[in-house]
Amino acid sequence: MDRRDFLRTGAFVFGTMAASAPVMAAFRAASGAPALSDSDIQSLADALQGDLILKTMPGYQVASQLYNTRFDGIQPLAVAQCQSEADVVACMQWCIQHDIRFRARAGGHNYCGWSSCEGLVIDVGPMKSMSYESSTTHAVFGAGCQLVDVYHYLGTNHGRVVPGGTCPSVGLTGLLLGGGQGMISRKYGMTSDQLIEARVVYYDGNEVKVVPCNQSVNPDLYWALRGGGGGNFGIVTSMKVKTYEIDTISSAVITWTWADAQKVLEKWMTWGPDVTELMSMNLILTSKYQSDPRAILAVACLDTTSNMVGYLSDILDPSIGTPQYQNDTPKNEPWLTYSLGSCHNYDECHFESDDWPTGDLKRKAYKSHSDYYTQPITQDGFDVIDHWLQARTANPAMTGGASFHLDLNGSASEINKVASDATAFVHRDTICCAQYTTYWEPNAHCDVVEQNLEWSRGFYAAMQPFSSDQSYQNYCDDELVDWANRYYGANLHRLRKIKHEYDPDNLFTFPQSIPPITGGMP
Ligand SMILES: Cc1cc2nc3c(=O)[nH]c(=O)nc-3n(C[C@H](O)[C@H](O)[C@H](O)COP(=O)(O)OP(=O)(O)OC[C@H]3O[C@@H](n4cnc5c(N)ncnc54)[C@H](O)[C@@H]3O)c2cc1C
Repeated sequence: MDRRDFLRTGAFVFGTMAASAPVMAAFRAASGAPALSDSDIQSLADALQGDLILKTMPGYQVASQLYNTRFDGIQPLAVAQCQSEADVVACMQWCIQHDIRFRARAGGHNYCGWSSCEGLVIDVGPMKSMSYESSTTHAVFGAGCQLVDVYHYLGTNHGRVVPGGTCPSVGLTGLLLGGGQGMISRKYGMTSDQLIEARVVYYDGNEVKVVPCNQSVNPDLYWALRGGGGGNFGIVTSMKVKTYEIDTISSAVITWTWADAQKVLEKWMTWGPDVTELMSMNLILTSKYQSDPRAILAVACLDTTSNMVGYLSDILDPSIGTPQYQNDTPKNEPWLTYSLGSCHNYDECHFESDDWPTGDLKRKAYKSHSDYYTQPITQDGFDVIDHWLQARTANPAMTGGASFHLDLNGSASEINKVASDATAFVHRDTICCAQYTTYWEPNAHCDVVEQNLEWSRGFYAAMQPFSSDQSYQNYCDDELVDWANRYYGANLHRLRKIKHEYDPDNLFTFPQSIPPITGGMP
């Protein structure tokens, strides 16, 4: 008997088992509803094709967790594992009827834990349908597909790819809705630029509706979904996207000692934006307790290895420093192998679970800040980086596996060719997107966590004079001031109007959800 049968046959009857009383009380507290009966909850379980996982059930812990272990304390009252669009509709109708707050979840990688809540998590994860139309070269993905699914399906069956991000477990939906930048984006653009059509479940103030949106049907919603950020307008159930031919890819991981870092940074920021669009690069400035900080350049190139090395000649020049290739690079390999990152095969590229017993991905604990650079970081800016990273390597509070990465994702090229108001993704004039990420061990002492948070806050603030006034909505930051303008810039006003049109009751809320045009700004 599976969990659903267990519910449906009445073997698990709410209110008759000791453990269910607190569940019911919590449901009521979360909803503010005076009375939510056992049969109300049973009615949701009955309406779903997928499972409704309650706190008392085995599997709840795994079903409720996100990628970032920082948010393990959020305890949803239930997770609805939707199998179909009809399940999503049923969940929304039920939440509206019973005044229960909800959040949509796809890959669960939101930086601030905002794809979970104390109410109902509407998990589209099981919706992993995938198809490909050879006549148009478009592909349609269910909202639960993770990048590993997308890369594996398209690469194995069709020799094609959707430009996405670098982490295989990230959800295509969350990535695309907030932009989506990865190692072939300089050639093909943001993931959001690939959207042809989406299907969306939303509430118009009277009823829950399901609509397609594309260039000619619900064009405002279509515009907003391409960069307006996840969880704002409705629940996406599927996406039709453009695909591109791909076979092999060249890559390199190159390191320099800290003595060379300033010259590497300066060269990368001035030369990198104009380098061939075939090549994408991330420059990472990293520091760890009692290790010298380092500069690491991760390169991917849609060309031969020797051509890639040629394109890199400016930054490899001895006048810049002494580069060291790492990880058996430079090399050329099948795209599918490259896309698995550090995993050896598709099965390994999952979190360990009943479905994926050999899954080898690990969740992490971290905090990120983000901004964009539109001008190269000056010598003064580098001095700030140097000061903070050196101080960190000497600070014994930064022990316990803690580390820091300033990750500069090179942009320009195809990303910047799209007008900033053509889609909701506004960041079209940048050299790179920066994320300042501090990691610590998931079981680290709270003092270590606090020290890391404090350090990262201070460093990010110190860099503000050198960066732009933009931040990446997919690297959301719960401490960010003026977040709405930084994420959406001149597109904010139109997004607020669309929010009012498609979510008039402002049901889709989280601390940085787009405020409807009728409401005040946060
Ligand atoms: C390890 C890691 C690596 C990353 N690498 C990259 C990268 O290379 N490039 C890049 O651009 N970004 C990257 N990101 C950031 C990533 O793009 C965002 O965190 C993204 O929002 C994650 O999407 P998700 O579906 O996994 O997350 P979720 O947490 O499931 O969702 C993110 C947001 O979308 C909403 N949402 C979820 N499902 C739906 C739905 N069906 N309809 C409407 N809204 C929905 C959620 O409510 C939430 O607000 C990375 C993040 C992590 C943690």
